[in-house]
Amino acid sequence: MTSITLAGVTKKFGNQPVLAGIDLSIADGEFCVFLGPSGCGKSTLLRMIAGIETITAGELQIGGQTMNDVPPAERRVAMVFQNYALYPHMSVFENMAFGLRQAKTPKAEIDQRVREAARILQIEPLLERLPRQLSGGQRQRVAIGRAIVRKPDVFLFDEPLSNLDAALRVHMRTEIANLHRDFSQASVIYVTHDQTEAMALADKIVLLRAGADILTKGSIAQIGAPLELYHRPKNLFVAGFLGSPTMNFLPATVEAAKTDGVTVRLESGEALSVAVDGAGLAKGARVTLGIRPEHLEMAAEAVAGQTITHTVEAVENFGEYSYLYLQSPMPAPFIAKVSGDAVGMAGRAVAFQPLAHSCHLFDEAGEA
Ligand code: ADP
Repeated sequence: MTSITLAGVTKKFGNQPVLAGIDLSIADGEFCVFLGPSGCGKSTLLRMIAGIETITAGELQIGGQTMNDVPPAERRVAMVFQNYALYPHMSVFENMAFGLRQAKTPKAEIDQRVREAARILQIEPLLERLPRQLSGGQRQRVAIGRAIVRKPDVFLFDEPLSNLDAALRVHMRTEIANLHRDFSQASVIYVTHDQTEAMALADKIVLLRAGADILTKGSIAQIGAPLELYHRPKNLFVAGFLGSPTMNFLPATVEAAKTDGVTVRLESGEALSVAVDGAGLAKGARVTLGIRPEHLEMAAEAVAGQTITHTVEAVENFGEYSYLYLQSPMPAPFIAKVSGDAVGMAGRAVAFQPLAHSCHLFDEAGEA
């Protein structure tokens, strides 16, 4: 049983608060991704779980036991670092065996465990090489192998793929998913700033946000399954972080609000009825309407209350789909992602209809 629980976990570096009041639980065997912009405290949180960073306040439990003061080697966790952290003068075999030797594991068992991990990771032919004789992807496999041989209860990955090129990143991502599915039922915590990696790998995403300025601290913006965060973002930060291109945000005023739908007046003067729960919204309230680019469809004609009409300023064609950049008074780009080619669309006024149940409304505080 290796669940992980954090209760009120806080971190300060000197007087500088970095994380505050982190409450979180990770189930046995779960693949949990810490996602968020650079500097929001993801690595610090991971390092506290690994035991290589102290916890200023709050409690960390692994497998039901308080771990705050337990040294890293006694936590049954294994960490894989972004820069691989291999010993340059040691062979691949020795790098993978190092932790086991430290733990005084019998020689025959070390040999058996290293070879088994090397077989799983397909690096058997590389066991006698030095790290500098390996490619980036091979080094990352060795770093993962070093974690696997320890048979930990929890794997901790800190941006393990960020030093690899794009194609190799996708390849290694699927290998890590396969490893978790096929060879190890251990819990995984995986840090990344890459939303695609998070969406592809996670059972559960913990999306962190940084404070508004350097004196405020990182906190949890939302916890949930990848599609839950995509379809039901709790606030503007989550809505704007997940999705590429990001969600369009249109300032609007509430005209009528019921539990089964809300009509808003946009700055263009057009009204739009959207199927969201309007409980708690008053007529005249200032809101933000959120529509993802992929949820705007071109309509055959404008229909009052159901479509919005915008002039296409520019088009990017990618073959399979196109981005239409729409004229709007907002500083951020307003984008519709449509399937197929959109040649010759620039300059035209087009009516768009949001897909049913795809719109989001956020109140003045940015909450859904
Ligand atoms: P992330 O992994 O999300 O990019 P980090 O956890 O690395 O963020 O850093 C969070 C914040 O803590 C940053 O503002 C960073 O500058 C600060 N920080 C990280 N490590 C230290 C340290 N050892 N001493 C002081 N500040 C640190």
